[in-house]
Amino acid sequence: MQTSPWGHSAGNGVAPFRSGQFAPPARGAGYGPFPSHVSNAPFSGTYTRTAYRKRANVGVVISIILVMALLLASGMAMQGIHEGMTGYREAVISPSASPSSDASHSPHTDSWDLPAQQVCANVSSAVDSLDGWTGADSTEVPAKLTTLKQDQSTCAGDVSSLSSTDLDAMSNHTIDALIAWNADIVEFYEQRSATITYRINGKWPVDTDELEALLDSSSWSDDPTYAVQQAAKLKSANDAVFAKINEVITGLHADESKVASVQISHTASEQEIWAAIDTVTKQMGVTYSFEPLTLCGSSNGEHTVAFFCNEGSLSFRNRIMFNTGYKYWGWGELGGKGDPWMLDATKHELSHRSISIMCGTSRPTIAGERYEAVTNAYAYLFMGVDRQWNEQHQLGLEEYAVGDAEMGIAQKIHDGTCS
Ligand SMILES: [Zn+2]
Repeated sequence: MQTSPWGHSAGNGVAPFRSGQFAPPARGAGYGPFPSHVSNAPFSGTYTRTAYRKRANVGVVISIILVMALLLASGMAMQGIHEGMTGYREAVISPSASPSSDASHSPHTDSWDLPAQQVCANVSSAVDSLDGWTGADSTEVPAKLTTLKQDQSTCAGDVSSLSSTDLDAMSNHTIDALIAWNADIVEFYEQRSATITYRINGKWPVDTDELEALLDSSSWSDDPTYAVQQAAKLKSANDAVFAKINEVITGLHADESKVASVQISHTASEQEIWAAIDTVTKQMGVTYSFEPLTLCGSSNGEHTVAFFCNEGSLSFRNRIMFNTGYKYWGWGELGGKGDPWMLDATKHELSHRSISIMCGTSRPTIAGERYEAVTNAYAYLFMGVDRQWNEQHQLGLEEYAVGDAEMGIAQKIHDGTCS
């Protein structure tokens, strides 16, 4: 949201820039399309995470993947997300505070009658698939993976000395580790699939039906070689998903640099101002329109210039809005459509969007209650908004005031840290 102090009463310490009578703008006239779904904006639902239950919830995972375009992220836990430019292994491998490589699955004790060469190939493939898998604290290596690596070392020696009992144990270790890892991945997608869909604009790089099938480990216990093959496919799918996220982020940051270079004079004409707004929104792949603030479920605010719908809905991912209820559109050069600061207001909304793509929400945990100030900081750092000039325009608006802390947080978000 972008708020202007114009018209604040002197009572709150901010004098209006002008006083007197101003003709209200013709509400709704000439401000662009009013989508028919205004009254149906998807901001009434809540994403509720159900407790993880192996197998039974695989369908839930996929339901989430498929319908997330309509879901809200407002209730979604965002803790622990670090899948930015570099940290995706931690994100995909340590999804929660409760590692599911737990005691609920009894170790397998089956006999397999597999040759040593096959057993060791399975172990090696499994270790490759589980590379980077960690426990809840992101550093601890799960015991099942440690065991598997010990088996891999054993395989590097003289395998002819291994008994069938030894080999069966290694196959069972393989199955145990893969199923525990799979459970963590299932939980990861349960928690993150809606967020990921939003971040990648719904463009999953893998077939979600195939992903669903790979997340179902119910038959992995039947055949260690099959389990290893499925795990390798799941690893590959995960890698594709995170490569896609990184591709989106790289493109986003490139677009931000181009937007930052779009500047206008402080004496720019209204035509120049809105041409620049056209340019920066198109650069980011965003449309803009004039809408009532109620579009995002907020009550109307006459000081709100522009807004971005906060959470998680694909239908609002690539839109920013100017508030038809803003009181001062008719003010001309100060606070109105003829104010060059409108370009900065636009860049502020685009910064909300960038943050939401980085983190899955425009109010990430790391920003806390300072999300508006952090958004301004992001706009200063990455969208080319002139800090001094913007501060003059938002004098007295503490919610938007940027200090070193907010600048640091904005930088971290840009680097991929959201909590
Ligand atoms: Zn804002």
